[in-house]
Amino acid sequence: MYSRVKIPKQTSNSSLAAGLEVDGDFGYSSAHESRLFRYSTGHQRGLEMSKFLSSVGQKKLARELASCGSYLLFRDYFTVREVRLKSGYFCNQNLLCPLCAIRRAARLLDSYMRRFEFLLEENPDARCFFVTLTVKNGEDLANVFEHLKVSLKRMYQARRDHLKNPSKNRHVEAAKAFAGVHSIEVKRGLNSRLYHPHVHCIWICQDDIDAQRLSDEWLHFTGDSYIVDVSMFDQKKAVLKTFLELFKYVLKFSETSLADNWHISQTLRRCRLVDSFGSFRGIKLDDLRDFYDDLPFVDLFYRYSHLERAYRLHSQSVVWKS
Ligand SMILES: [Zn+2]
Repeated sequence: MYSRVKIPKQTSNSSLAAGLEVDGDFGYSSAHESRLFRYSTGHQRGLEMSKFLSSVGQKKLARELASCGSYLLFRDYFTVREVRLKSGYFCNQNLLCPLCAIRRAARLLDSYMRRFEFLLEENPDARCFFVTLTVKNGEDLANVFEHLKVSLKRMYQARRDHLKNPSKNRHVEAAKAFAGVHSIEVKRGLNSRLYHPHVHCIWICQDDIDAQRLSDEWLHFTGDSYIVDVSMFDQKKAVLKTFLELFKYVLKFSETSLADNWHISQTLRRCRLVDSFGSFRGIKLDDLRDFYDDLPFVDLFYRYSHLERAYRLHSQSVVWKS
């Protein structure tokens, strides 16, 4: 049985579903407010990018970005104090549109953190590492990116070869990881203006990673780069922080000019920027929808106000379930 109750339109989004917080805990409301602020900022940049695309003749793409996130429907599961983005129109141009980049990062975070928790339950003594591998900066993004991808491929191949036949193929540090996930990021030197692609990884291992050995191996795989960073993280206290670091944006929109952003997106548009190996693959995740299916909720419909440069609550309605 469903009953739908209309709530009067509100002019401000400062109060989320006023009066519906179960016991006066407004923590999740302010988290929602922060999210709306991030989405507003992201959409503003998307609109700027849309104008730029229009100016370089990319009219269709420009229209897609301009429409992306023009409205958002959130679903507030107030009994568990969680607000989830339910629907909206999205362009899915993750390298051009900050709003879609945020959504992509959230999806990856959710999926891999749940896999991580599953793996740690199965392997409570595992040792977890955050590993960063870099290659020499360069002027040509396509070249330095290809260099990074080929070097990574060599390292993963060496890992597979060793695990397949340890007596024949030499050991590499990556073979200590029974599960790993990586995400590639592109930065540009503030002064040098050279491109600096690098890869962040989370490796779940049985043994400690030896940073010096990894550096030597990375020099072998790249032929010219040895800079690596290895840090162990606490699998109970630092998981969210570490996964956020892993899945932060491919590029920092605020530090990237519109023209450069367009160039990066064109260069990387067919590239796989996130990948995993070992036990991170093949885990069947429970469908979260089942959990939320029986909960009552408030639908919150937002529209982007060009005048206020922010999302404003347009209407809301409650669905009680029994
Ligand atoms: Zn978008």
